Amino acid sequence: MTYTVEQALKWIMKSNEKIQNNKDYLSELDQAIGDGDHGINMARGFDEVVKKIDGNDYAQVSDVLKDVAMTLMSKVGGASGPLFGTAFLKMSMAVKGEEAVTYDTFVTALEDAVAGIKQRGKAEEGEKTMIDVWSPVAERMKDADDFAASVIRDNAKSSMEATKDIVATKGRAAYLKERSKGHLDPGSVSSYYIFEALAESLREEA
Ligand code: ADP
Ligand code: MG
Repeated sequence: MTYTVEQALKWIMKSNEKIQNNKDYLSELDQAIGDGDHGINMARGFDEVVKKIDGNDYAQVSDVLKDVAMTLMSKVGGASGPLFGTAFLKMSMAVKGEEAVTYDTFVTALEDAVAGIKQRGKAEEGEKTMIDVWSPVAERMKDADDFAASVIRDNAKSSMEATKDIVATKGRAAYLKERSKGHLDPGSVSSYYIFEALAESLREEA
């Protein structure tokens, strides 16, 4: 199976829907262990993303992801904008030249995204950040041979839930030390929505 421009557009539209629908929830999560703006940041950024890509005629998946990346980088306030922006930019670069992206290339793109987030955020797995969703999903997909919606969704969900037990050592939540435990990481929850949307874009394959 390959990943098409049409699916990439669906991915982003569905990500936007989930983020808009959960804007208040994401900010509530950030209120507990951050500064309470994560929902606002993500909702504003994805609103701009949808405006940017809507109605465009894209020849390659790479071009869609590049517009997403540039918009998130420039329009999202907070740490998360440049981090999600970097993730989408790395993916865009990795899939460049392929009109319909093969599974192996898609997995490489996700691995590059993880490396990009790590480098930009100077963070690793286990620090209670979005990396704790992106990294296991990329690893799980590497173990598989083809796109499988439920595998992606289930892994993203359990990884997101597992951030509750982690003590934050990066981002604003790190100021709380032990008290950051018992709360979900907001950026991991928005990452979960993005992977849930990816899974749905696969199910609706034309
Ligand atoms: P800010 O922390 O600037 O208010 P947001 O609230 O929009 O930005 O985003 C917070 C999220 O960003 C966190 O929940 C976490 O997932 C992610 N994050 C913060 N710092 C880092 C980092 N250094 N590396 C990776 N992800 C990070
Ligand atoms: Mg915040």
